[in-house]
Amino acid sequence: MQEKITNHLLKLINKGSNAIKTQFMRSSEINKTIFSDDSLGEESKYSPVKGIIHKYKNRVLWKVSYRCAAHCQFCTRRRQIGDMIGDLTSTDIKSGLLYIDSHPVIDDVILSGGDPFVTPRQTTHILDGLSQIKNVKVIRISTRLPIHLPQSFNSPSIRELLHIISLINQKLPIFIQIHVNHPDELCTDTLNSIKKIKETGVTILSQTVFLREINDDVNVLKELFTSLYRIGILPYYIYRCDYIKGLDKFICPIENEQKIMTELRRQLSGVAIPLYIIDVPGKGKIPVPLNFWDNIDMTFCKDFDGEIIHI
Ligand SMILES: *Cc1c(COP(=O)(O)O)cnc(C)c1O
Ligand code: SF4
Repeated sequence: MQEKITNHLLKLINKGSNAIKTQFMRSSEINKTIFSDDSLGEESKYSPVKGIIHKYKNRVLWKVSYRCAAHCQFCTRRRQIGDMIGDLTSTDIKSGLLYIDSHPVIDDVILSGGDPFVTPRQTTHILDGLSQIKNVKVIRISTRLPIHLPQSFNSPSIRELLHIISLINQKLPIFIQIHVNHPDELCTDTLNSIKKIKETGVTILSQTVFLREINDDVNVLKELFTSLYRIGILPYYIYRCDYIKGLDKFICPIENEQKIMTELRRQLSGVAIPLYIIDVPGKGKIPVPLNFWDNIDMTFCKDFDGEIIHI
């Protein structure tokens, strides 16, 4: 993955945001651990059609492209991000729609990537197709564009996409999942772009990744989740950083994360608190227990099928 950053983020870094600098600028720190670059098994195990990951029975994740306006150094899909090979042709989109249409068990489609807002035309095309498939009951769109490049929400192509979203949302609910990790990211321009998303009537959720020396701190996360709650965003997930090749410098000790989430549970409303999970390699998103019970062995968990997985 190449380094890529927007002028918007550079401005925030120049104003002194170390949290943003560490997320986007490459450091010379050497990675010691040997993880796989696709430890979640996305391509190797779960991709029936280009772009689609079908890992959970009723839900698919659809990678609209591998393009993002800026590149987060801790990205789970760093093996792909920035590569044009992820672009979908109209034939690919047709195959994806056909796959979903012919699997009635799929009722929830998550557009991801890459960032679906970076390729508004393809995303519009996909949304249009999905809205005509009977078994699709919910559509979700994951994005980080309000953080990377909020000014782009004034562009005609994104305004057009938001218009389509507002129309479809009247028929079947659309959820927009914004990836946000630190209060420094919620600057005025970003808040304005979020307002534009809100005007479409969709429900907005947030997703956060625990990042060492960036947000592994009670006060930082308290401020982040409280701010999100106050602008009408529901904090949905906080992920333990994935065990992906190149990411070890971002991974926090699990005990610290637990301690932080336990303290936040003491201080915040349940509405303002995301579910703390670990995406167990190849298995799925498993909630991490907080410290309200004693003697939990943190060296293993059971996956959705009851199988024991060593962490
Ligand atoms: C996270 C994820 C989903 C969605 O999971 P939810 O718990 O429904 O938010 C779906 N597919 C894949 C491959 C995922 O990684
Ligand atoms: S926005 Fe998401 S997909 Fe894109 S680089 Fe960042 S973490 Fe990866």
